[in-house]
Amino acid sequence: MKKVLVAGELNVDIVLQGYRSFPRPGKEVLVDDFEMVLGSASAICAMGLARLGTPVAFLGKVGDDTWGRYCLDTLKGRGIETSRVVRDPGLKTGLTVAITSPRDRALVSFLGSINALTADDLPASVFAGFAHLHVSSFFLQDKLTSRCAEVFARAHQSGVTTSLDPGYDPSERWDGPLHDALEHLDVFFPNEVELSGLSRCQGVADGLRRLDNGRTRIVAKLGAGGAMALDNGQPLHVPAFKVPTVDTTGAGDSFDAGFLNAWLRGAPLAECLRLGSACGALSTLGLGGTARQPTLAEAEALIRGAA
Ligand code: ADP
Repeated sequence: MKKVLVAGELNVDIVLQGYRSFPRPGKEVLVDDFEMVLGSASAICAMGLARLGTPVAFLGKVGDDTWGRYCLDTLKGRGIETSRVVRDPGLKTGLTVAITSPRDRALVSFLGSINALTADDLPASVFAGFAHLHVSSFFLQDKLTSRCAEVFARAHQSGVTTSLDPGYDPSERWDGPLHDALEHLDVFFPNEVELSGLSRCQGVADGLRRLDNGRTRIVAKLGAGGAMALDNGQPLHVPAFKVPTVDTTGAGDSFDAGFLNAWLRGAPLAECLRLGSACGALSTLGLGGTARQPTLAEAEALIRGAA
């Protein structure tokens, strides 16, 4: 089976749940519960791939601290190879504290190791033994992004296919090196907001057409609206599966895992979209991005049940 290298950020999320009043400066509030989960988009995708049975290795950096050890242990617990994750004593592992309630949430993040990876950490030699390279959170990894096109070109020269999930651009400029990287990508996974920002188009099909370069499969993730890609220039839409959603955190990363699992097996576009949608939908059944990621059998059962 084709082996995937996921390269990117690692961080821990501390999710504080159920506040009665939102904290104000100088005050303390109590919450009902908390969870510590692996938070990064790259890790959620890697965990999703591993759950589906795709062999995965992770390449990244963490601090030599408790949080870093937690990230490594969680990846290893899913059977992901972690020998390419560097524990750097000069770094602190990235951390997000989320204060959530069913009404609203606020996030406080310390980037730390999240933007520590550089293009020099991905020389041609790292691609040996892999069939595919996946990268997420493009806009958060500012030491990698300026030379990302070079990394993807190097992967292609090594016979490795490539995919990227851009994630949100906190600057909301949606410009710069991503457009250069696009031509070196086999699959590109924006959500609806990201597609609109990058293409400067309101409609999804128009956005897909605007970014279409004739070589990259661009897949728009539309939340509860499903997913869409161009098939020979025509929009192909797959509706979302109806499930009792609890939390949509990381649904897009689980979608990426499902799509890639099918795509790497050479499945037709509609099948890739369906498996992506099933994995995205099933991941929303639990809190956080990884607790309810499906096996291939579970995702296929959802697809069969809806047919
Ligand atoms: P991102 O997390 O990148 O913003 P989306 O929110 O679009 O991505 O979710 C990715 C995919 O997960 C969607 O294309 C859809 O297939 C599935 N999904 C997301 N939210 C739901 C939901 N509420 N119900 C069913 N499926 C969902």
